[in-house]
Order: sequence, then C-alpha cells, then structure tokens
Amino acid sequence: MITRFAPSPTGPLHLGHAYSALLAYDMAQAAGGTFLLRIEDIDQTRARPGWEMQIYDDLHWLGIDWPEPVMRQSDRLPTYAAALDQLWNAGLLYPCTCKRRDIAAAASAPQEGAPIGTDGIIYPGTCRHRNRSGPRPTGAVLRLDMTRAARQVTYHDTSTQIVLPDTFINAIGDVVLARRDMGTSYHLSVVIDDAAQGITDVVRGADLAAATPIHALLQQLLDLPTPRYHHHKLIRDDTGKRLAKRDDARAIATYRTAGHSPQSIRQMVGLPSSSW
Ligand code: GLU
Repeated sequence: MITRFAPSPTGPLHLGHAYSALLAYDMAQAAGGTFLLRIEDIDQTRARPGWEMQIYDDLHWLGIDWPEPVMRQSDRLPTYAAALDQLWNAGLLYPCTCKRRDIAAAASAPQEGAPIGTDGIIYPGTCRHRNRSGPRPTGAVLRLDMTRAARQVTYHDTSTQIVLPDTFINAIGDVVLARRDMGTSYHLSVVIDDAAQGITDVVRGADLAAATPIHALLQQLLDLPTPRYHHHKLIRDDTGKRLAKRDDARAIATYRTAGHSPQSIRQMVGLPSSSW
C-alpha cells in the first residue's frame, strides 16, 4: 500500500489538512506500507517556498515522516507536456480562448443562469470547432473534448458511483487540462503523479469526490492504473463551515504556538492516538 498527502503550498495547513495527512499516514503504517508527500505547486502565482517549509515543519511535528526527495509538481512540467501531446495527437484536446465572462454569458439560459456541473460551469463548447491539426499549441488553454473522450473509455465503479458517458458530457463538460499560465492543470497533474508514485490508495477530502470520475477518465485515456479512492469527512468550524487556507485560527501553527500537542490535534479531529 502506498498512500500520499498532496498539499499546495499556498497557505498554512489547518486541522483539515492534519486530519487528511494523519489518516493517509496511519493507513500506510497499519498496512506496513509507505506514505509519500507531494508538493502540488503548479500555481506559481500562489505557491510560496515559505509555506512549503511550514508544511514540512508542521507534518514532522505531527509525527509524520516520508521518504526523500519529495516530489514537487513544478519540477515535472515536461512530463505533463508529454501527456498533453498524447491527448492532443489523439484529437481529444482543443485550444480555448474564451474569457470567464464569455463562458458564463454563453452558457446561461435566459432564466436559469449558467449550468453548474461538478467541475464548475459546464463549458458551452464555443471553441470546440477550433483547429486540432498541427503541433499542440503551447501557452494556450486546452480543453478535453468530453464527448469524444467519454466514448473512448469503458466504465466501472470508481468507489463513488458508476459514471455513464452522458454524465461526463452533460454534468461535467469539457474540462480544462492545460491552463495558459501553467501548461497543466490540477486534474492532469494529480492523475499523472499518483501513477508515477505508484499510489494505491488516495485519501482525500469529500470536497474532491466530484473530481474522482474525471480522474478515473483521465487514467483510462492515458493508460494509467486507477487507485482506490477514500474520501473522508471535512473538518468544519463551529458554525459548520469547512476550513479554508486563510482560516488562521485553525492553522496547525496556531495550535502549536498555543501549546497544544500532536496528540491533542489527533483528538480534535477524532483520530485515535498514534501507536507508531
Ligand atoms: N493539492 C490538492 C489540495 O491542496 C489536493 C489534491 C488531492 O488530494 O487530490 O487541495
């Protein structure tokens, strides 16, 4: 068993991250497996080295360790580019020049507003007719042609639900696989890296459950294995809102400064004390 924790270094880790990391770590320990850390820093406008250092520090303090070197997504852009080439050459991607505003306007029915799917506004397909021949455009937004993609794969239970081609087409739509400023996207990178690291069990929050069918689809298109997915409850604040990166009050660092112990963090999120 290989599990992982894959934070983005864009703010302090909070109790929700502690829960996720500890669950993945405990699961690997209990099975005599391996826990890996991966830094998801493709958004270079938001990632900061200082937050990355804080992640290492907080996780070590919680009693978590991992093999070095840590995989960092910003080192892996050529690998993502190769996967984009593969999908481009298969005719599954097209360049999109729409602005967010145009998408909302084009997608909105007069009374109902823009249709929202599990990955945000369902793209109305404005750029779908664009030229797909020649070399893959770089520095462009690339979308997955979901109608073609969904027809190329077979469907199986991804531990969430059985997803039919129509669900992909009508409830998700043409997702962005390369952002202009990054040359990749969360969906593409996470799938490639889980496979590259041999992750057998992905442990992550229920907020990402909606992304799992997209990931299972990409795994089939790229001929990668589908790991087991475990989506855990979200840790909420006293008002029931889920914790956000900016929620410094529940940052692990804040609890550390206030004198809490790693065991009391475990208790707060409802985990048994560690026996490792
Ligand atoms: N990097 C993502 C985040 O910080 C998590 C990715 C995942 O677990 O699939 O929320």
